[in-house]
Formats: sequence, structure tokens, C-alpha cells
Amino acid sequence: MSGTADGAVRVSDELRAAVVDCAQRMVADGLVIGTSGNVSARAGDEIVITPSGRGYDKLRPAELCVVGVDGRPIDLPLRPSSELPMHLAAYQQTAAGAVVHTHSMFATAVATCCRALPAIHYTIGFLGGPIRVVPYATFGTGELAEGLRMALADRHGALLQNHGAVAVGQSVEQAYERARLLEWLAELYYRSSRLGSPRLLSTAELDAFTAQVTAVSYGTNDRPPGTASPPG
Ligand SMILES: [Zn+2]
Repeated sequence: MSGTADGAVRVSDELRAAVVDCAQRMVADGLVIGTSGNVSARAGDEIVITPSGRGYDKLRPAELCVVGVDGRPIDLPLRPSSELPMHLAAYQQTAAGAVVHTHSMFATAVATCCRALPAIHYTIGFLGGPIRVVPYATFGTGELAEGLRMALADRHGALLQNHGAVAVGQSVEQAYERARLLEWLAELYYRSSRLGSPRLLSTAELDAFTAQVTAVSYGTNDRPPGTASPPG
């Protein structure tokens, strides 16, 4: 973010670079293939988001699209991601500074077969608890955006039925780390389920986790949840 003479916070070159870097990492880490998935970040009343149909390997920061938090166009060198309504809904629902949407394999598999990703491991507490699955709706629609908005209540991530996953964070880096955590948890659930019926954490155990995080200062600004290495 950067301040301007009129006091407004605008999308900075650094934020653009972080969005491009994240989009390229999504491909390199196997969380998306081709041009699927998308990344956005917020600076004040502006949202910077990846464009539609542009290969991330050649994506340049100047090709990112900037819109207002209300969706009004500000700078559109290319067509913005078709999932812009979903990103805007995430910013309306949460205090997020960034949103990462992937089609990562295990998260999508769980979203296809399950009604939620349950508390399979204590680190799901970094995402706010068991992850809801948004009922299927066509990509890019207001219906999908509204479903995501509801699923993100008190959560830093959500699954999209027959579609993929969304993670939010204070920064692009934190949102991305949460997207990776969500995929890891989904894979753990998949693998555990093949061994038998996985034991799930109770609400009391998750509450104890949250209290312990507070006690050892995880979850503070110097070690934000989702970017810190899990304790233990
Ligand atoms: Zn998608």
C-alpha cells in the first residue's frame, strides 16, 4: 500500500509485485493448472486482482486490474478475473488484505465429496475451525459470491463444491500460506479417511488450542496465524 497527497491509500508497486509472485507460486506449487485460480489484494478502497485468461508465467505487474471495493473500474489493462464478485464478497465479509483462490487437488476433492472439512488436525484452528463447503454455483456468479461470503463468517478459508478453495489473510503472503495449509489439511483428511474413521478434534480441544496459541503469543502481529510454523 502507499499513501497519496490526498491521504488515500492506493495500490503500490510492491503490492502488485506480491500479487504476481503469489500467482506464479500457485502454479509452481501445483495449486492450480493453466490460468485457473486468481489472487487479489486490498489497499484502502482499492482492490488489485489478476486478469482473466493470462498465463501467470508471463504476467507483469502492470497487467493487473484495479477496481474499487464496490467493483467500479479504476485501471483495467485487461479483463479482470471472472471471480471478481467472489473476491469482493470476501472483502465485504472479512477484514482481509488479500484473497487467494485455487483449484488445489485435495481441497477440491473434499469439496466434491464432503459437506465440510472437519477438525482433522489442530492447525485448522489457524483457519478459524472446521471449513465450510459453499454449495455449487456457476463460477463468476453473484450466487457463488454470496455463498462464499456466508462461508467465511469467522473463518479464514472456505471450500467451493465441485470447484476449489479460497483463503484470506492480512497480507498476500498470509493468504497464500493459508491456502497451502487448507490444501495440506484436505490431503490429511483424505489420507486418514483411507485408513479408517479419523478421530476429529472436539470444540473443547479447538478452544484449548486457541487459548494455547494466545498463551505462547502465536497469533500476534509478529507471528500472524497461518504464517507461523505450528507449535509442537
Ligand atoms: Zn475457480
